[in-house]
Amino acid sequence: MSNNILAIKNLTVSFDGFKALNNLNFTLETGELRVIIGPNGAGKTTFLDIITGKVKPTQGQVRFKGRNLRSFSEHQISRMGIGRKFQTPRVYLKLTPRENLELSCNRNKGVFSTFLGNPDPSERRTIAGLLETVGLTVKADIAAGLLSHGEKQRLEIGMLVAQSPDLLLVDEPVAGLTDEETENVGNLLLALAADHSIIVIEHDMEFVRQIARQVTVLHQGSVLCEGTMDEVQNDPKVIEVYLGQPEEQAA
Ligand code: ADP
Ligand code: MG
Repeated sequence: MSNNILAIKNLTVSFDGFKALNNLNFTLETGELRVIIGPNGAGKTTFLDIITGKVKPTQGQVRFKGRNLRSFSEHQISRMGIGRKFQTPRVYLKLTPRENLELSCNRNKGVFSTFLGNPDPSERRTIAGLLETVGLTVKADIAAGLLSHGEKQRLEIGMLVAQSPDLLLVDEPVAGLTDEETENVGNLLLALAADHSIIVIEHDMEFVRQIARQVTVLHQGSVLCEGTMDEVQNDPKVIEVYLGQPEEQAA
């Protein structure tokens, strides 16, 4: 039947009567990389909050791998295989990238057993692979506090992947990054897309162009249009509400 990892149906979220999401319908195929764009206040963050269970639907439903998420807590949903990366990096600055990744791999074991126990060879290989994937092999053993902002972003994406989620939610990963780091993060997400389902929320249009296959445009809590970057950019509705604004005025 359907190969959708995520299916959102007729979803409405009201905050004191204001509909942050309004009868929204959305599906993501397993293995897909989707970029979501939309002007400020469109409902993008609320959309992620709904998927992670932080906010519950007023109406409608969210299905992940066929299961309705309504009755599950945020923690349970995370254990079911949904990982979220927030906008600001949340790495342990005094630990090295390698140690940060070890901790993420062992989230259930806790800090002490991670450092008291010797990582077994298979775990060591996993972490070496992750360091390679995020491009931090050379900096694996310096304090994470010494990494650049972009390197920290990549490390945090690695920490997310270390938890083996099936669906990765990534909120504005290149805000404040240099052009070179933006491209690095883009390449990292493209590499991860080979074996993960990913939703990226992003404002930076250059970046969206670099990574996007399918783009969903949110506006006033609903899907305004979906398609390739070219289709979306040429859609008069989108030009009107979003892309038509001069860059300087876009908040
Ligand atoms: P975006 O991330 O696209 O900028 P948000 O999802 O943060 O948009 O917000 C969508 C709309 O819902 C905004 O108008 C915002 O003010 C409103 N909103 C978001 N969270 C709440 C809340 N907890 N209470 C009331 N209004 C909210
Ligand atoms: Mg937001």
